[in-house]
This record gives sequence, C-alpha cells and structure tokens, in this order.
Amino acid sequence: MTLSYDPPKVAAPGSNLTPLSCQFVFSNPDTQIRLPRTDCLVKSNIPLAHLTSFRVGGPAEWYVAPSSLEELQASFEWAKAKDLPITFLGAGSNLLISDRGLPGLVVGTRRLRQSNFDTRTGQVTVGAGEPLPRLAWQAAERGWRGLEWAVGIPGTVGGAVVMNAGAHGGCTADHLVSAEVLMPNGMIKTLTTAELGYAYRTSILQGKNWTVTQATFQLKPGDDPALLTAETSNHLNHRRSTQPYHMPSCGSVFRNPGQYKAGWLIEQVGLKGYQIGGAQVAQRHANFILNCGSATATDIFQLIRHIQQEVDRQWRLRLEPEVRILGEFQPI
Ligand SMILES: Cc1cc2nc3c(=O)[nH]c(=O)nc-3n(C[C@H](O)[C@H](O)[C@H](O)COP(=O)(O)OP(=O)(O)OC[C@H]3O[C@@H](n4cnc5c(N)ncnc54)[C@H](O)[C@@H]3O)c2cc1C
Repeated sequence: MTLSYDPPKVAAPGSNLTPLSCQFVFSNPDTQIRLPRTDCLVKSNIPLAHLTSFRVGGPAEWYVAPSSLEELQASFEWAKAKDLPITFLGAGSNLLISDRGLPGLVVGTRRLRQSNFDTRTGQVTVGAGEPLPRLAWQAAERGWRGLEWAVGIPGTVGGAVVMNAGAHGGCTADHLVSAEVLMPNGMIKTLTTAELGYAYRTSILQGKNWTVTQATFQLKPGDDPALLTAETSNHLNHRRSTQPYHMPSCGSVFRNPGQYKAGWLIEQVGLKGYQIGGAQVAQRHANFILNCGSATATDIFQLIRHIQQEVDRQWRLRLEPEVRILGEFQPI
C-alpha cells in the first residue's frame, strides 16, 4: 500500500550529543488537535517522564498515541505537513529522554494492540504496543513454548523487535518470523528476521525511521501449561531477586563488551553505589542506574559518561550504552 505523502523528518537517534545551542520553546501549551478522519488527538506539551521507566525527562512538543494503522498514518501525515521530526515511544523502558524534552511529534505506540494465536501454524501475531510480559504469560498459559524468557522485560513487542530484547539465553530474534513496519514514504513492508539484521541487542531498525506496527513469532504449541507457567514464574522470580526492580531504571545501561560483563567492569572500577545527584549505580547490579527519587536526566547522563570515562581509563575499554538517549544533553 502506498500513501500520497512525502516522508516526514525523523529525529536522528543519538542526536543527544549535539551541543546545547538553544532551549526548546514549545508553543501552544494546552493545544489539542483532532487528526482528520479519525478520533485521534495530537496534544501539545505532554510530560514524558511518567511514560518512561527512568521517570525522568521533559515534555514532548507534540504527543499522539494512535490505536490503529490509519491513526498512525494520519499522525505521519500531520507531522509531515508541519515539517516536524518524529520519535517513537514504546513502553519507554530503554529510554533516557533529555530534561528539555523532545521537539516535534512523539508517537506513543502502546495503543497499537491486538493478538492472534494461529493454532494451525503455532504462530502468534501481535500489535507493536502489546506488553512483552503479557505476551509471555499468554503463551505459557496456552502451553505454547518459546517466550518464557521474556516475562521480566517490561517493554512492548515493538520495542523488543527494535532492540532484539533478550534474557535467560533467549532473545527476540530467536523466535521472530517477521515484523511489519510502516515506512516514512507510507509503504507497509514485512521484514523477515534475516532482513532485520539482528545481533546482540541490535537490529537494522535502530537508526531508521520505520515504525514497527506488528510482529509474528513462531512458538511451539502443545506443551504443558502448568510447566510453562512455572518456568516463566521462575524466570521472573530470579530477576526480582538478582536485579533492583524496586526502583526506576532502564534495566542494563550498557551492552556487554566482548568477553566481559559491563556490570563486572563497573564494579571493578569501584563505582558500585556511586551517585551523581539523584542517580546511583545500583548496589545489587552495577549495570543498572537507579533514579533514587530526585534524579534528572542530566544526572543520569553525567553518570553514564563518568562510568564510560572510568572504565576507559582503567580498562581501555569503551562501554557502549544499550539505553537509547534522546534529545539534547550537554557534552561532558
Ligand atoms: C527493570 C528493567 C529490566 C530490563 N531487562 C531487560 C532484559 O532483560 N533484556 C533486555 O533486552 N532489555 C531489558 N530491559 C530494557 C527494555 O525493557 C528493552 O530494551 C525493551 O525491549 C524496550 O521496549 P520498549 O517498548 O520499552 O521500548 P522503548 O524504550 O520505548 O524504545 C526503545 C527504542 O525502540 C524504539 N521503538 C519502540 N517501539 C517502536 C516501534 N513500535 N517502532 C519503531 N521503533 C520503536 C524507540 O524509538 C527507541 O529507539 C529492561 C528494562 C527495565 C526497566
């Protein structure tokens, strides 16, 4: 299917590293606009902190949460007409958003929800906004094996497809058959797992302006639901007992570099418990940064840079953030 509009601009990932040349001035603080031919509202100046697991960050200049492909397409058309960049927001569980907020249109995908378990093929097709833990439980309760590892990852299906989320030896790429994406030129394309270029916590979708709208996973029906729910439950309990789930974070901040675990390296350079403002390296798991209640995005960003500098100085290794950093931050 091809629509008749030109691509909207999309905020460049990692544009956080640009100097702070200006402060965003978001006009029309209380405006809301109904998208043509839909019931979907675009609202201005919407706080984003409560939409991220770090609970930090400023407002979106404009925010929309489409609940259908038509509303998503209308959102794209609207952004294009206003020449606005677009940023996608799933469950916000792997995002650090600048205190200054995000210019342009933030598209929240959490309302893109539906799921269809095909008993003939053992495939499940789910909307991008479907919570990954919910999908894991649903599959286990049906006796469909494959997603037990996913239960403790607090993101959406779309976010998991983009990030190649994984845990307990499993990852999204292992079970994904294909993902449907809406491209900026209005084309809907189905990409196979091979085409998505998966590697450790990455895919070709990172750095592209394509929206994941739904994904299809191949599972194995016919297993014992009691056994699968017990395995799923064990995974969740293990994570709750080894990771600091009780405070706001983004999970692991850094990718593991080569043979080393990022958390181990951070511990070795003596940064466990190290704090900048309200952001602290977790005692329980050093690859987690916790918002102790009063953290700003700047605190967290500075702590990330400090960790990188110390690990680089003592180990000659560059830790790369797994967390996606969005908006403007002061370079350190
Ligand atoms: C307590 C905790 C534990 C965690 N444990 C794990 C773990 O074990 N393993 C793991 O891999 N991760 C883990 N994470 C990180 C996070 O949950 C995953 O990366 C998750 O896949 C992110 O999904 P999300 O919906 O929150 O995406 P977001 O954080 O909202 O977005 C992540 C990236 O994907 C893009 N994006 C999101 N949805 C779409 C879409 N529909 N179309 C296009 N782009 C999109 C965003 O623009 C952004 O670039 C953890 C996080 C927390 C807070």
